Amino acid sequence: MDQIFIEGLQVYGYHGVYEQEKNDGQMFLVDCVIETSFAEAVHSDDLSNTVDYGNVCLFIKKYFTEKSYDLLETAAHELATALMYAFPGIQALQLKITKPNAPIPMEFSGVGVMVKKAWHQVAISFGSNMEPRETFLTDAMEQIMAHPDVRRMVVSDYIETKPYGYLDQDDFLNGAAIFETLMSPQQLLTFLQELEQNAGRKREIHWGPRTLDLDILLYDDLRMNTKELIIPHLDMCNRLFVLEPLVQIAPGMVHPVCQRTIYDLYMRLQEQMPVATESFADQEL
Ligand code: ADP
Ligand code: MG
Repeated sequence: MDQIFIEGLQVYGYHGVYEQEKNDGQMFLVDCVIETSFAEAVHSDDLSNTVDYGNVCLFIKKYFTEKSYDLLETAAHELATALMYAFPGIQALQLKITKPNAPIPMEFSGVGVMVKKAWHQVAISFGSNMEPRETFLTDAMEQIMAHPDVRRMVVSDYIETKPYGYLDQDDFLNGAAIFETLMSPQQLLTFLQELEQNAGRKREIHWGPRTLDLDILLYDDLRMNTKELIIPHLDMCNRLFVLEPLVQIAPGMVHPVCQRTIYDLYMRLQEQMPVATESFADQEL
């Protein structure tokens, strides 16, 4: 990714725990590294095709001056999020806020905080086998799309599939979606589980009938294996009902463990030569 940086931007603000900081205010220094793609700007040589750092500076000044936070942590988090919403060209952002004159009775050049934000590329799969199946799926997709920390969502067709694992149940309607999100994997899981709950999901039989199942397949090239969350999803390479809709919308997306594209994984599974996924579990994720 290409980078734009802003160094030592001076902004006056009223953030701090002490009354004096809130009333009199003080000078803050803002440093910012913006990750973006120069591809379009380089091609067109046009300011409207890049992130205008002048506008970013004005935005920071306005935001920082109008609001007042006790904690610099909150100020930095909120400002970074606001920047991500306001400037769609920003793919990732590192924001550092320094208080050169913090009320500490010692010599120092600055104290402060640094936060990072990024639009992460995510793939999920979804399914339902209790009526109204289509409504459960469409409602969930609309709610995901409406979340402020989600953008650029693409949803596959819904496909009719036979049950997997526990066979004595109705057929499923399955699909996949890709989108970008500011949420962490854990936040995303919590959000998706809320949607499952709202759809009246009850976890009674493992792999049993469900109104709505939402699984995280991929999250950037992240590999994680905790009690709550395994990414990439462990069984995705063995499930045609996952790969068939996913290949429709993200054939070139790469599985970070086996380094194969979704298209490749799909073709292999169709030819009954799936990539062995059991081995992923043993790896240091
Ligand atoms: P399944 O999707 O295998 O049919 P559930 O939807 O009931 O089963 O999920 C069981 C648990 O799987 C969840 O409580 C969640 O913590 C865990 N889990 C682990 N990895 C993932 C993932 N990548 N996406 C969604 N849930 C996951
Ligand atoms: Mg699930």
